[in-house]
Amino acid sequence: MKPMYPLLEVHTHSIAQNTLHLVELCRSCSIGVTGVIKGFNGIPEVAAVMAKAGCQHIASSRIEQLTALKERGILLPTMLIRIPRLCEVEAVARHIDISLNSEQSTIEALNEQCRIQGTRHQVILMLDTGDLREGFFEGTQLVELAAHIEKNLPYIRLAGVGTNLGCYGSIKPSTDNLGELCRWAEAVETRIGRRLDIISGGSSTSLPLMLEGKMPARVNNLRLGEAILNNRDLPDLWGAPIPGTRQDTFILKAQVVEVKHKPTHPIGELFLDAFGNKPEYPDRGTRLRALLAVGRQDLGDSSKLIPLDEGVQVIGGSSDHCIVDVEDSPRPVAVGDVLSFSMFYGPMLFLCTSPYVEKVLK
Ligand SMILES: *Cc1c(COP(=O)(O)O)cnc(C)c1O
Repeated sequence: MKPMYPLLEVHTHSIAQNTLHLVELCRSCSIGVTGVIKGFNGIPEVAAVMAKAGCQHIASSRIEQLTALKERGILLPTMLIRIPRLCEVEAVARHIDISLNSEQSTIEALNEQCRIQGTRHQVILMLDTGDLREGFFEGTQLVELAAHIEKNLPYIRLAGVGTNLGCYGSIKPSTDNLGELCRWAEAVETRIGRRLDIISGGSSTSLPLMLEGKMPARVNNLRLGEAILNNRDLPDLWGAPIPGTRQDTFILKAQVVEVKHKPTHPIGELFLDAFGNKPEYPDRGTRLRALLAVGRQDLGDSSKLIPLDEGVQVIGGSSDHCIVDVEDSPRPVAVGDVLSFSMFYGPMLFLCTSPYVEKVLK
């Protein structure tokens, strides 16, 4: 059968290698890895690869992805890493082992559901250490809720505390903010009279601190997606490559539907593009361009694609098209040709979720 494009190759061997390598690196710092699968829409075969490579838990923001794994017999503990919705607490109590939490009413609803179902659920209380997404802003309130859970909620086990950085507020993980997490963890331990199982010090963006040997000693868990899956943000945006990890994990193949010489600056009065933006169009004269049949509906922001063919440069796109400059391509580009792209996190997330994109597991 002839392949249909666009297609997304998922190189599971590279993902397995990255997981094994990062699990080992983290283990040498006494840190366990929670493998985060939301970035690839939880494709079960890929999640299974991460589970097999030594992750402690498998995590997602989407409960559907985690329940699908249990149905396939992947029995590693599951972690819901978006604060549970009140409308899903019944399912969370039934299917999920651990969830990240910051609201007493939600945890009490989980306790009640577990009582009804005769199950037990574990929670990690989130502390906001400055990134301003989820979590308690006041550590004292976190300690109070921890004590309340320990004393009054018999169907909930307080597994630990965690924080999230580098998401909304773009705050860099540091000895300061993760040290603050550890201090509040110890305040909880003093209050409840036992050690916590998990002190979860963030996501892939916490790896540079760990690799510099500056991770506060009590942090014993990281929740890793990006560094395992595309491994692009750390080397390219943070200037911190991780030796021994691969980037040939997700590869987009898209087909050329038009090749023409055109000016680089649009003709007529500049107004707005299809998404209401006013992009800039540097005038580089007339260039040879190719139009690809894949667009923002499939991949989000085309500037987050990384062309793998020499002399190809992404110049923009719309919902259903991506435009590439091929003037400098050493081989002639023709209609029907297939161009390949690596990518940052955004396109991986969109492409894995799009029903218009064929996924080919390698
Ligand atoms: C997405 C997410 C992660 C994983 O982040 P990566 O950058 O992919 O490593 C970890 N924790 C939470 C709460 C998340 O939402």
